[in-house]
Amino acid sequence: MISEKNIVFPQGEPFKKRSVVDVITLGCSKNLVDSEQLMRQFDVLGYQVRHDATHPDGEIVIINTCGFIGDAKEESINTILQFAELRRHKKIQKLFVMGCLSERYLKELQLEIPEVDKFYGKFNYNDILTDLGQNYRADLRLERTLTTPRHYAYIKISEGCNRTCSYCAIPIITGRHRSRSVEDIENEVKGLVAKGVKEFQLIAQDLSYYGLDKYKALKLPELTERLSDIPGVEWLRLHYAYPAQFPYDILKVMRERENVCSYLDIALQHVSNNMLKQMRRNITAEQTYELIDCIRAEVPGIHLRTTLLLGHPGETEEDVNELKDFILKARFERLGAFAYSNEEGTYAYKTYSDDIPNEVKQRRVDEVMSIQQGISAEINQAKIGETLKVIIDRIEDDYFVGRTEYDSPEVDQEVLIPLATAGVEQGEFYQTEIVDATDFDLYGK
Ligand code: SF4
Repeated sequence: MISEKNIVFPQGEPFKKRSVVDVITLGCSKNLVDSEQLMRQFDVLGYQVRHDATHPDGEIVIINTCGFIGDAKEESINTILQFAELRRHKKIQKLFVMGCLSERYLKELQLEIPEVDKFYGKFNYNDILTDLGQNYRADLRLERTLTTPRHYAYIKISEGCNRTCSYCAIPIITGRHRSRSVEDIENEVKGLVAKGVKEFQLIAQDLSYYGLDKYKALKLPELTERLSDIPGVEWLRLHYAYPAQFPYDILKVMRERENVCSYLDIALQHVSNNMLKQMRRNITAEQTYELIDCIRAEVPGIHLRTTLLLGHPGETEEDVNELKDFILKARFERLGAFAYSNEEGTYAYKTYSDDIPNEVKQRRVDEVMSIQQGISAEINQAKIGETLKVIIDRIEDDYFVGRTEYDSPEVDQEVLIPLATAGVEQGEFYQTEIVDATDFDLYGK
């Protein structure tokens, strides 16, 4: 039942027919999937559901928070406070908070921000429905109200993580690794294909581990093959792979299956043995080099995205130089770098002191990103004259904005095609000649 606020709803009677529910999603695409599932439930109950509205002023506001690192937590708290103000002045009727921040800091938040009608964790957000006197529809559990452009969707294949990376709070928030069944994921994808979705982003906390908990075997290759067999699946893209215990059989699937993008997002975080050991990444520098070489040899033309963490306790300038050498040699097509955030509850927080000044962390991030800018510019220049399959996501200013199979939505670069080009539609694929390039974008016709 709803907290001591004692809001009584006649059983089964919706709050007010067609009430407006504003859902605000912060954080990653895994959070977005949760929001979409909850939105579908409100939809079928007759509520008007909006997502990330410009002026969210619905009777009911639900904030799906992120609690991963400092900046993300701050953004979540500021968003809650913004709506707590509206709630205090009765500009909104109900304010609910869910997701990773409230999973991690439930008690503190309840004390600190009493204007919130109720805080939910990461996995019990469907209680919002029952607390509103509604029934959760289990028969719709595979259904979502998509918030992405209608032609692509995120598919979360598992929850949680069994790794023990020193700096990471995610296992504290999401718990142990739990794979969804292959059949469940297949049915979800089939349902979305029937709604016109063509492109699927496979996501998890740790894609590599998929199946090991449930089937006692690395099942990502088999899962990807079965999804690739579904008629109407045009692109399947893999995100959040983990380097240790890597499911090598996935490389054959990527090489042989036309609709499995030659793209892999694999977070490496670092490469010096000193750092990999302190970060508890269960892999060595030598093994990392071997893995990247093997992936490139097995899947010619693959585009690799990686994420690097700078400023972890104990990191020396020598470690950073080793990392710079590595990215110059490995030439990642896509790369993001972040500064270490000292997260309470993590192994690093309990074991090391956060001894690297923030300005040094940021300088190291900037140095790595400026190297990457040069690499990205060279890779893009080399694409001029090539013809690539591009999907159109939207129109922006004087351009159709699209992506190749090497570009994941929201995080990677885009292809800009003049708006004057006739017969181009959102959500359709076009063979596109690359005519120009910048460091982080391509121009096509
Ligand atoms: S693999 Fe490591 S960094 Fe990724 S979610 Fe798990 S513990 Fe965190």
